[in-house]
Amino acid sequence: MQHSGLSVAFATGARPVGAELTASIARLMAELRELGSAAVDVTAVANPSAFARTLNDKALVVYVVPDAAGEAEHGDLREFVRAIRAVNAELPLFLFGEQLTARQLPTEVLREIEGVINAYEDTPEFVARTLQREANRYVERLAPPFFRALTNYANDGAYSWHCPGHSGGTAFLKSPAGTLFHQFFGENLLRSDVCNAVEELGQLLDHTGPVAESEARAAETFGADHLYFVTNGTSTSNKIVWNSAVGPGDIVLVDRNCHKSILHAIMLTGAIPIYLMPTRNRAGIIGPIPRSEFDPAEIHRKIEAHPFIADKTRTPRILTLTQSTYDGIVYNAAEIKRTLDGHVDVLHFDEAWLPHARFHELYRGMHAVDDRAERTERSLVYATQSTHKLLAGLSQASQILVQNAESAELDTNIFNEAYLMHTSTSPQYAIIASCDISAEMMRGVGGHALIEEAITEAMEFRRAIIRIADEQPEGDWWFGVWGPDTPPREGLAERSEWELTGEQTWHGFDAVDDGFTMLDPIKVTLTTPGLSTDGEFGESGIPGLVLSKYLAEHGVVVEKTGLYSLFILFTIGVTKGRWNTLIAELHRFKRLYDRDVEVREAMPEFADEHPQYAELGLRELCDRLHAAYRGFDIANLTTDIYLDAPEVALLPADAWAAMTSGRIEHVAIDELAGRVTAVLLTPYPPGIPLLVPGERVTERIVEYLRVEAELAARFPGFNGITHGLGTAADGTHTVACVVD
Ligand SMILES: *Cc1c(COP(=O)(O)O)cnc(C)c1O
Repeated sequence: MQHSGLSVAFATGARPVGAELTASIARLMAELRELGSAAVDVTAVANPSAFARTLNDKALVVYVVPDAAGEAEHGDLREFVRAIRAVNAELPLFLFGEQLTARQLPTEVLREIEGVINAYEDTPEFVARTLQREANRYVERLAPPFFRALTNYANDGAYSWHCPGHSGGTAFLKSPAGTLFHQFFGENLLRSDVCNAVEELGQLLDHTGPVAESEARAAETFGADHLYFVTNGTSTSNKIVWNSAVGPGDIVLVDRNCHKSILHAIMLTGAIPIYLMPTRNRAGIIGPIPRSEFDPAEIHRKIEAHPFIADKTRTPRILTLTQSTYDGIVYNAAEIKRTLDGHVDVLHFDEAWLPHARFHELYRGMHAVDDRAERTERSLVYATQSTHKLLAGLSQASQILVQNAESAELDTNIFNEAYLMHTSTSPQYAIIASCDISAEMMRGVGGHALIEEAITEAMEFRRAIIRIADEQPEGDWWFGVWGPDTPPREGLAERSEWELTGEQTWHGFDAVDDGFTMLDPIKVTLTTPGLSTDGEFGESGIPGLVLSKYLAEHGVVVEKTGLYSLFILFTIGVTKGRWNTLIAELHRFKRLYDRDVEVREAMPEFADEHPQYAELGLRELCDRLHAAYRGFDIANLTTDIYLDAPEVALLPADAWAAMTSGRIEHVAIDELAGRVTAVLLTPYPPGIPLLVPGERVTERIVEYLRVEAELAARFPGFNGITHGLGTAADGTHTVACVVD
């Protein structure tokens, strides 16, 4: 394993270091450089926590204790050691001084360090060798198994005769365009892009060798009985879980606001879905599924009432719950596991947005797989997580976690058959390596520190927005954040502050069960003026799309846009600089809006694309769009279409079969009411499926599609899109429906 540099950092506290000691540090540094290490000059550390976060590319730290150190210096030293150990338990730490002895040094410091060096006891050369050996050992241990094997392989420079055909990148260099590609992505990515014929890396498809070692290590890190890396996203992880557990005609319980991969799994397996219905507020934010929906008696009532279930005594095969909804609501997973244990064979939590929960006490009990929590007695528990969404995975990096029940263990043979159905025989090794490294980053104190930092930044952002709102003169406007009325105090989030209760009004949901859900503070919904959570439109307003288009043009791209809100994520990659830039941009937007600056000046690129808006003022544009939304009462319309329980005319798989065998026709919007859709109809935003294949189109959905079409015609550039809508020759929209 090669590390790009064994760099040693030197640090000291506030008190200056004497001349003799300074001279011996210089001699030690010279020796280290002689041995090929980079030695970084002594930093007088004022903020140990901040300093500790700069050490990720260092292999060892030497802390210089000034001559005749007293209590004050020992205080500095204690704080320094504590700050480093809070983020890194392994980084070698040495003390350097004139006459340091164990007797003078605080025990809590001695416990945490690797060694003590006295300046004149050994030769600088000997000390440098000792330090370098320790640094080497540390770096040797950094890489988890698969990543280590992959880098060794790439560094070995073996000639490959196997695919991929670019042969470690050399094919690209035979063409000018290819050379551009090679130069951009670089040698290492291409050298490590190998095929599964390379035995020494192990097999993802069979879970052997270094891949399997890394999966086992990640399982330990995440507290799972089994953990499998997946290279095609949680979309695929979900289908693997389903195909391993569900067959045609099985009863399945599904969150109505599930990801479309779950609906695809229903179509693939031929299952009979029963939906659990979430609440919504009138600002388009999805609320929790009420506790009563999980009651086995209520589930049984739905089975009784379902027209396609012949045997009403069958146990549902699987429950899939979107654990962390798209707006950041998280369920009490421990309670749901208790309630449904034995009433459903498999409990599957789609934790695409929740891979971080295990690593911070704020989320205790609020995620599915946890070796510190009680096991289920009979139901197998799965979590599927998108490592790439909130942790540091490359796009498509995902993982499946399994927790066995007391009396039911995962059948790994059946599971792996399903895994093979959905996994390419040429998996991308850089993605696997990123699964491996993402898991490694979460191990030990490092993981906790990363999540705590993300939560802290999110809290500071929330407080900043609230504080600026409070500072506005009477009658002026500013943005808001959806969430508890966070007290503008310092410190971290308290769990109790983030739990939803029926008494609170901030969330805008009609019925909320106490102790059942919380809002994840790192998922921030920023609200714009113009719409309250109960669906009341203001006199004026700033539609979310105008703000998100403005921000995109100024380098800030948000995760999703609601009617009068934007959704932003505080992942482990967020920095203070990034969110403060966002706040600066919000101030700038407000100034432009208040002065009604012309769109061509405020958003020149957008005005180029859509010249019809160029000479409107920014406020005028918002006013017009707002008046149209208000006129159509769009907040209530877009809520109600989701609250209706649609009539099921066909099973999803049968509706899809009609599609593949051509028993469909393309029906214009005006003729849609009462027809049975053969496709998934999904409006973006928010990207939640509205109709599942086999369901009958309601009058209200037709009205919604008409309003969308009219808005698109009146305000080009501000329309959403609906996946599943086709376009006829005359440009009007159609939906593929099953022939009656
Ligand atoms: C994004 C998402 C998925 C799919 O994950 P990918 O990694 O993008 O394939 C599945 N479920 C939910 C709830 C998601 O938000």
